[in-house]
Amino acid sequence: MNNFFDVIIIGFGPTGGTLASLLAKSNLSVLMLEKEKNLYPLPRAVHFDDEIMRVFETIGIKQKFRKYTIINKGTKFVDENNNVLLDWPRPKEITENGCYPSYRFHQPDFERVVRHHLKSYKKFKSIQNANVTKIKNLKDFVEVSFQDTETLKSKIVKSKYLIGCDGANSITRQSINSKFKNLGFTQKWAVIDLILKKNKNLPDRTIQYSNPKRPATYCRNVGKRRRWEFALKKNENEKKVVTDDFIWKFLKPWLKPTEAIIERKAIYTFQSAIANKWRKGRVFIAGDAAHLMPPFMGQGMCAGVRDVSNLSWKIIHCVKKTHNEILLNSYQKERFSNVKEYIETTMKMGEFINAVRSYKISNTVFDQSDGSKSMKSIKPELGPGLGSKSDKNRGRIFPKFNISKSKSFDELFSFEPILVVSKKLKLKKMSNKIKIVKESSYKELSKILKTFNADAILVRPDRYILQTFKKKNSLDNLIKNNLKNFN
Ligand SMILES: Cc1cc2nc3c(=O)[nH]c(=O)nc-3n(C[C@H](O)[C@H](O)[C@H](O)COP(=O)(O)OP(=O)(O)OC[C@H]3O[C@@H](n4cnc5c(N)ncnc54)[C@H](O)[C@@H]3O)c2cc1C
Repeated sequence: MNNFFDVIIIGFGPTGGTLASLLAKSNLSVLMLEKEKNLYPLPRAVHFDDEIMRVFETIGIKQKFRKYTIINKGTKFVDENNNVLLDWPRPKEITENGCYPSYRFHQPDFERVVRHHLKSYKKFKSIQNANVTKIKNLKDFVEVSFQDTETLKSKIVKSKYLIGCDGANSITRQSINSKFKNLGFTQKWAVIDLILKKNKNLPDRTIQYSNPKRPATYCRNVGKRRRWEFALKKNENEKKVVTDDFIWKFLKPWLKPTEAIIERKAIYTFQSAIANKWRKGRVFIAGDAAHLMPPFMGQGMCAGVRDVSNLSWKIIHCVKKTHNEILLNSYQKERFSNVKEYIETTMKMGEFINAVRSYKISNTVFDQSDGSKSMKSIKPELGPGLGSKSDKNRGRIFPKFNISKSKSFDELFSFEPILVVSKKLKLKKMSNKIKIVKESSYKELSKILKTFNADAILVRPDRYILQTFKKKNSLDNLIKNNLKNFN
């Protein structure tokens, strides 16, 4: 085996799998090291949103994966008497990301689809039973030692960059001397996955039972799968809580033992934490290795996918062109505040479910005319990094649209930004430095330029707007200022 790669990834979970797909698509040589032989066997993610589906489309799995998902209708928060306290609907409308706002899925289905998809890349290699034991972060490359968990033989591999997608107990995080800061929510919950034996009239939305006696969550998952989660009481015996007897007693209001099979069960300590450092030299962390949040909003895995969507094109740039500190340093800056807002909102949601009803989950909660309360999904901003904060369009999502029956504008992106220009502008010097798409090429572009009140839009490969321009500015200079980061 050639032991030098462009990138080594540690951890074949959803973050690592998505990252590998993004890098392999740009023809990088990628080695995946995963210590487990099989997929993670316990209950985990069941929800993701439109932004994540767009990333799945970018990596080329949306079509295959779509059949393993259902559109999520939303969440209701109810009190101990089933009165609705708060409604969080997810209307079945196509969003700016060209997808529905929210989907439900079964995490192992996603991981299987990604792993199968990656087999099509000749320059992607994965080794399972490979427990990474040591990381040497050197000036020009990284050296990684791993041990085969069956033969106990050790090997050394090298790469230009290393990304640790190795979960909560990340060895990569330790290797860069990064510390988790606990943000304050720590609570034990049981998570029970069931498969219905026959049709049963259960809610088709997620229900958060804000019941002071036993806070709980019900999830309507794909096909016949359903999930219940419930908080453990102080000093409650963990072993007893996951016995079938205990579980069926808890499920009595909804299900009888003859009506479903318990598929999987686990007790988790739901945590909220964020690492203070996400990069050192050529070593990075992403996903649960960099942040943890309780699952009430279904955003933990989504955050990991956002991390690697942000980081991948910067790494590709460094491999294909030249190592670029500005790009690499922007990764943590842009991602940190975004994920922190998700964590903090999730924590407030957790307190609300714990029946601390005075908690306002976010500033997207509002009163309806009939006196009820409703909530919209939050859309945290991209933190400061590339581009200028004075441009109010910077960091907004560039909308997805189709340029033919089967092709979307997204397919024009590689790892470099695209400049969309209105017909009003004439480009001179910079035209050969960047991929330019003229307004006249696709009719949707006129609408988009109008929406952002811009004569030109510089779009990053991860579909965030880097900068917008008005005619009155000197376009050549503005592009030059932005593009200096990409050379
Ligand atoms: C009950 C529950 C419900 C959830 N629901 C949702 C949800 O609905 N939506 C959502 O977005 N998120 C949800 N999450 C969170 C989501 O599951 C995680 O955020 C996600 O799995 C993290 O992915 P990851 O790839 O970063 O890490 P992981 O999935 O933890 O993967 C890390 C991988 O690294 C490997 N590894 C670790 N150390 C080493 C080493 N030394 N050498 C080699 N390999 C190593 C591990 O074996 C593992 O395969 C939920 C979590 C829980 C517990």
